[in-house]
Amino acid sequence: MSIPQPPSDHPGNGLQGVALQTSRAERAAAAADAAERSPLAAMIVRFDQAADLLELEPGVRRILREPEMQLAVAVPVMRDSGEMDVFTGYRVQHNTARGPGKGGIRFDLHVSMDEVTALAAWMTWKCAVVDVPFGGAKGGILCDPSGMSKGELERLTRSYVRGLGDVIGPDKDVPAPDVNTNAQVMAWVLDAYSRQIGHTVTSVVTGKPIELGGSLGRGDATGRGVMLASRAALEYVGLPVAGATVAVQGFGNVGSAAARLLQAEGCRIVAIADRTGAIFDAAGFDSEDATKWVRKHGTLAEYPRGERLSDAEFLALEVDLLVPAALEGVLTRDNAATVRARVVCEGANGPTTPGADDILNANGILVVPDILANAGGVTVSYFEWVQNRAAYMWSEDIVNDRLREIMTRGFLSVRDQAEKHGVSLRTAAYMLAVGRVAAVHHLRGVYA
Ligand code: NAD
Repeated sequence: MSIPQPPSDHPGNGLQGVALQTSRAERAAAAADAAERSPLAAMIVRFDQAADLLELEPGVRRILREPEMQLAVAVPVMRDSGEMDVFTGYRVQHNTARGPGKGGIRFDLHVSMDEVTALAAWMTWKCAVVDVPFGGAKGGILCDPSGMSKGELERLTRSYVRGLGDVIGPDKDVPAPDVNTNAQVMAWVLDAYSRQIGHTVTSVVTGKPIELGGSLGRGDATGRGVMLASRAALEYVGLPVAGATVAVQGFGNVGSAAARLLQAEGCRIVAIADRTGAIFDAAGFDSEDATKWVRKHGTLAEYPRGERLSDAEFLALEVDLLVPAALEGVLTRDNAATVRARVVCEGANGPTTPGADDILNANGILVVPDILANAGGVTVSYFEWVQNRAAYMWSEDIVNDRLREIMTRGFLSVRDQAEKHGVSLRTAAYMLAVGRVAAVHHLRGVYA
């Protein structure tokens, strides 16, 4: 793993990738290019910006640029055929100064140490920006789960947990579902860990089935947080929420819930998209109906309403609110100038590259950054962990009320920070988050 280095002359380690660049300007250009392609490089660009503005003490700065722990493990799995396969699994704890590491596990063909490290760092900043007492972690297995039977997936999960050993635990590092993992996978993680420990430990994972200690409200939590952040952002730019036109990219867990909940607030969902393409209906889609369709058919491919749009047409729609809730790196410096939304609210992790950010900011488009906008999921994960530890479950209304309180407070503190320093909401969110984690390092003195 090589952490991209800042365009500065400080003596950080691993300058391998840029050592041959001859000038500071060339190094800055190389870092900007890398940030368009790599989520880790993009994260570092944002971190460095916030650290500069905060005039972060160099020692703490170096600590926060590096993950605390990176683990790669072999994950042997007996296939149904009787053949043994060995996959590679990762777990990264970026920072645990504020509490146990928190972050999902993904099963995907794109999983790499770089990606997992970027996602772990985002979790550190996300938990800090909404002020829940967790650090940042992430994990994954490089595999194609679509080609695996349920039995193979269960053995894969158990083998991974065995490989992680005591790296995870309710006071250390608490996994959750992510891309291609779900409540069932978390139930297997819980069971495998509990067998290792010798007793049932429900608080070792969040996003579990309700019967095993999962929280009411977790399913829609990220989408609900996106709705709350979008609503606050629309009000901030002076647009009425009722009647606001919305385009939602990604119609999975986050996108479909955000669309349903925004519609319930009176918004008109004029465009939706998934990996099979985008559709448009000026009169507005019925998000509940589209969600039911996707649950039954898997995708929007054959959805019998709306007219088809290309991805480029979708991103260029003149709407009040654009919610990218699918993938990383969707808005880049190549297409950001085409965006005509008034507000972009990032449901996905890392949908906007730093180059795109500059263009959106220059065009007066308000971007609610991922580490704030999609923090509803980790917030309710925190509630789940609290409920498990107290062995007392909350009603869904209590979960939703407390989520609203935390998301609203998070948005207002980021907005105040942005206004105070004259910076974008993203820079403000990073400043708040990095400042909070740095403050804990100073108090604990662990870097001394
Ligand atoms: P998901 O797998 O449930 O849904 C992903 C959606 O994106 C699907 O509709 C898929 O078809 C669509 N998609 C994939 N490729 C696309 C493309 N090229 N163009 C348009 N759409 C495409 O995933 P999810 O849980 O909804 O997560 C979506 C994003 O939100 C990810 O970036 C994830 O890391 C982030 N996120 C999720 C949560 C959570 O609680 N699930 C929390 C925070 C952040």
